[in-house]
Amino acid sequence: MKRFGVSLPKEVAEAVESIAAELGVTRSEVVANAVQAYLESRRGHAEPSHQCLGVLMALSNSFSDLSDVVERHKEAILAYTHLHVEGKCLTIFVVRGDGPQVERLSMEVSKRSHTARYVPLV
Ligand SMILES: [Zn+2]
Ligand SMILES: [Zn+2]
Repeated sequence: MKRFGVSLPKEVAEAVESIAAELGVTRSEVVANAVQAYLESRRGHAEPSHQCLGVLMALSNSFSDLSDVVERHKEAILAYTHLHVEGKCLTIFVVRGDGPQVERLSMEVSKRSHTARYVPLV
């Protein structure tokens, strides 16, 4: 085990606390689990030079929350569609680019969304 401090946005920290209380585990275990899942999801992106093709889904308040990201990463976005689900905007991107670029795009979309998931296809 190795200890290090991390800073989390308040809502994220509160969500970690409530999951820990619900499951009867420590906050560290919740965070370790989440980080483990993140590392596993990245395994395919380990090669910095690989070409990644995948689908990025994001649920946001409005498509305009994402429009600057779309503009900045347009060479990596093959197509996207946007629909409304339960009063929110669901944007589905088909993405192709080098691993780190796709990762940056996915992080930027994630910061501006309620939920975002990147699913690598190859
Ligand atoms: Zn990849
Ligand atoms: Zn919309």
